[in-house]
Amino acid sequence: MRVESEPMAPSVIDEDRPEPAFTAALAVSPEARRRLRPLVGKPAGSLLIHEIYRSLQGESTFAGLPCVFIRLTACHMRCVYCDTPHAFAQGEVLSLDQVIERALELGDPLVEITGGEPLLQAEVYPLMTRLADLGKTVLLETGGGVDAQYVDPRVRVILDVKTPGSGEVDANVWCNLDRLRPIDEVKFVLLGRADFDWAVDVIRERGLIERCPVLLSGVHGRLDPADLARWILESGLSARLQLQLHKILWDPRARGV
Ligand code: SF4
Repeated sequence: MRVESEPMAPSVIDEDRPEPAFTAALAVSPEARRRLRPLVGKPAGSLLIHEIYRSLQGESTFAGLPCVFIRLTACHMRCVYCDTPHAFAQGEVLSLDQVIERALELGDPLVEITGGEPLLQAEVYPLMTRLADLGKTVLLETGGGVDAQYVDPRVRVILDVKTPGSGEVDANVWCNLDRLRPIDEVKFVLLGRADFDWAVDVIRERGLIERCPVLLSGVHGRLDPADLARWILESGLSARLQLQLHKILWDPRARGV
């Protein structure tokens, strides 16, 4: 089944279909529920997949490595800088076996689960577990707006913290920061100096530098990486400047790279 982008109806999730426990917390927001409409009617045991492709990892400490990307459809947030709005609604329903088969065909030992917000579909949890069972190094790129406590401990969580400039700071699930481990990474995408100062406060208050790699990334075309580099040096923080490699190598608007 191919689900094309369409205006999402202003109604609630299908009443006949139980919501995954993981999305229940989002039900408080009518707007978030409207944005989850693309997932309505998806058969249990399947995933709504936007794309599966092979490219170079563009972000995180794995940047530069060949990687298989599994991009899941739908997101309950709307960050002002989002570069994957095409994944909000378009997707193909695939069984868990089909997703794994396609990922294995591409062959790389590194697999990233991304979106949209991948944690909105309950079937993503067995997907990550099965990929880890197969010996894959599994990265989870999550926007930080869903509780990540059920993620297989072998998965490396790359956790976004939404800044005020993103427009989604209220969506942060702060307890996710308390669970960060040395194998995880935490990322702040910054629009400017105000976001940077806010991020520094969060990093210091929560002792993030001592927990895991901290990535600071400027919004492409909005924040000059040279400015961000200077601010990091002046701050004295051991945070990592992240350049979005895929946007340097290829057209920043290109899909599937
Ligand atoms: S969380 Fe990610 S996918 Fe969702 S709107 Fe923000 S940037 Fe886009």
